Amino acid sequence: MRTAIVVGAGIGGVTAAVALQRCGWEVTVLERAAELGEVGAGISLWPAAAAVLSELGVKGVDQAAVPSGPFGLRKPNGRWVVAAPDLGLDLPVMIHRAQLHDLITAEFGPAVTVRTGYTVETVTQDDTGVLVNGSLRADLLIAADGLRSVVRTALYPQYAGPQYSGSTAYRGITETKANDGGETWGSAERFGIAQLIDGRTYWYATHNQPAGQSGDLAEVIRKYGNWHDPIPALLATTQTVLQNDIYDLALPLVPFAAGRIALLGDAAHAMTPNLGRGACTAIEDAGALARHLTSTPDPVTALTQYDAARRPAATQLVKRSRQIGRLGQLENPLAIGVRDALMWLGGTAVRGAAALTKSRRAPKPTPSNR
Ligand SMILES: Cc1cc2nc3c(=O)[nH]c(=O)nc-3n(C[C@H](O)[C@H](O)[C@H](O)COP(=O)(O)OP(=O)(O)OC[C@H]3O[C@@H](n4cnc5c(N)ncnc54)[C@H](O)[C@@H]3O)c2cc1C
Repeated sequence: MRTAIVVGAGIGGVTAAVALQRCGWEVTVLERAAELGEVGAGISLWPAAAAVLSELGVKGVDQAAVPSGPFGLRKPNGRWVVAAPDLGLDLPVMIHRAQLHDLITAEFGPAVTVRTGYTVETVTQDDTGVLVNGSLRADLLIAADGLRSVVRTALYPQYAGPQYSGSTAYRGITETKANDGGETWGSAERFGIAQLIDGRTYWYATHNQPAGQSGDLAEVIRKYGNWHDPIPALLATTQTVLQNDIYDLALPLVPFAAGRIALLGDAAHAMTPNLGRGACTAIEDAGALARHLTSTPDPVTALTQYDAARRPAATQLVKRSRQIGRLGQLENPLAIGVRDALMWLGGTAVRGAAALTKSRRAPKPTPSNR
């Protein structure tokens, strides 16, 4: 049996393990954390990623996810900039990260071995295979070791790597149910609300500040606690908060394939979370990897095809996500006024187009439905 090592057991790594197992590889997943799992936050799952999970045989996503919405954009005082409950857009579903991770790892069969508490320090390769930490050999290595990937650094030591976006993100989950959703954009600050299937609410907030400054729940309440309802109630009933400074990877991205080693997920294309697509793109990478390794017997050629298929699309997402972040985190009041006016116009135009499409699609009146 052909053997593969997956470095990292985040959403990207575990999906890659399921994908490789499915196309007949024996997989060892190496994870430096003591236990498998994901953080307590929600995640948006876009249709293309959900389709890959279903293709890979991951079950139960539909039962654990809820359509995102109501959707739209507000000002901190609650006034809608774009109210978009039904624009006819293809929207993601929301799911708890830990639940998604559990559903994926539930598919691990006997071909997948997981070693937690294992830190990869060195990776080398020759014509016959890869060698990890001078002792573990395999035919192929998938580096899903995140934003600060040691494998990527070993392959491309000159690459600039992670770039700070200028903002930090807070995330929390509360038992309080919000009959509400969407984002609120202020000055250099944003707040997002999303319902989870069990009635809890996932929220996130971003704020411009230098990298490395830690904040806590009291800080979040101080910043957003007087924004429109239900934000104060959501924050008042939150117990813990996660904070992450937001980085993406420098462009141009490095090749996702080098001989028998492939980069996947944030290791390949970490993007800011403004489109809610980083993990989804990692899942799509895993699906593409499986397709190329199945259709092309030589793994080195298959990885080259994987790079050609995935890097252009991921590059576009990194760029677009960065642009949306800049727009959302504007500080200048004049620029914010212009932005909000353009968003309002854009929303009105899209709503008009959606209404027109709907009326065109409506059945012609017949005696029975007239
Ligand atoms: C605030 C925020 C909100 C987000 N919201 C969304 C969203 O709604 N939708 C979405 O699709 N994406 C979202 N993302 C992006 C998403 O979280 C990431 O793109 C995704 O989690 C990346 O998964 P990954 O498996 O590639 O990397 P990671 O999740 O970073 O996993 C890497 C794993 O590798 C392990 N590791 C690292 N180095 C080593 C080593 N040397 N040896 C062994 N193990 C190692 C780590 O411990 C970790 O478990 C968001 C990100 C942030 C910050």
